[in-house]
Amino acid sequence: MTTIGEAWRLARQRIDRLDARLLVEHVASCSHADLLAHAGRPLSALQVRQLEALVQRRARGEPLAYLVGSVGFYGREFRVTADVLVPRPETELLLELALERLRALHDPAVADLGTGCGVLAVSLKCRFPQARVVAVDLSPAALVVARMNAALHGVTIRFLEGDWYGPLGAERFDLIVANPPYVAMSDPHLESGGLPFEPRMALTDGVAGGDGLDCTRVIVGGAAMHLLPGGWLLIEHGHDQGVAVRQLLQDAGLTGMATWPDLAGIDRVSAARFPVSRNRESQQDDFFLQPHEL
Ligand code: GLN
Repeated sequence: MTTIGEAWRLARQRIDRLDARLLVEHVASCSHADLLAHAGRPLSALQVRQLEALVQRRARGEPLAYLVGSVGFYGREFRVTADVLVPRPETELLLELALERLRALHDPAVADLGTGCGVLAVSLKCRFPQARVVAVDLSPAALVVARMNAALHGVTIRFLEGDWYGPLGAERFDLIVANPPYVAMSDPHLESGGLPFEPRMALTDGVAGGDGLDCTRVIVGGAAMHLLPGGWLLIEHGHDQGVAVRQLLQDAGLTGMATWPDLAGIDRVSAARFPVSRNRESQQDDFFLQPHEL
């Protein structure tokens, strides 16, 4: 007979301490408090086998989120499967910048391009129920997960399958958010940590020898055709892509380019807006979180 406490101790010897705890809690369907209070409770033979398999997968590098089937993002739990990128904490910066902009709008139209498991679209809709939110993804499997998350959080989002602006016709938005694949194919990072387990199409643009910005070029390049006057594009990118992304934003005829660092101090999100008119390009942005000096 193996008790919860023994299982936890054995798991800790093979994987990270916190991961071990979360896997035991997952298999035993118990909270952290239960784990501490009932460490002497036995696990069934099936639970022991399940835990063993999960610990082995974690030891091989599979993301914890895939093993437990969910991840926390900006205070909510989201379902994830291996069909979607695991939402990263740095994407919460993109969400915060988006929320800040939506606060000033009454009945905003919002598009989330490459929604994955839907964290951005669902979080935005939960916070601003009056917003009309459309979420696009090329992967039907990802859309299944995103729809599940919208249902889980009780929000209605229009989900469309397709390539970036492809399914949007001539629609225009007050806000477009995107966390596209931006890791260059040559980046060795792709072979480390949990990345080999994540969908390649969510991480890279698939262009061998490229800079990883192919999807970003499509998203930025199409923004002027899909933003309302004064509308914002907010896009996540890699730590060394800020200069290139701001240049793309400028080339696309957008104004007020800015880049924000994530909590690790790394350039992570850039933004720009579609001009209101030729003569009124700059608006009062003073109340927004200030970008760092460029
Ligand atoms: N930030 C992720 C990573 O480097 C990549 C996310 C993405 O490509 N959108 O692991």
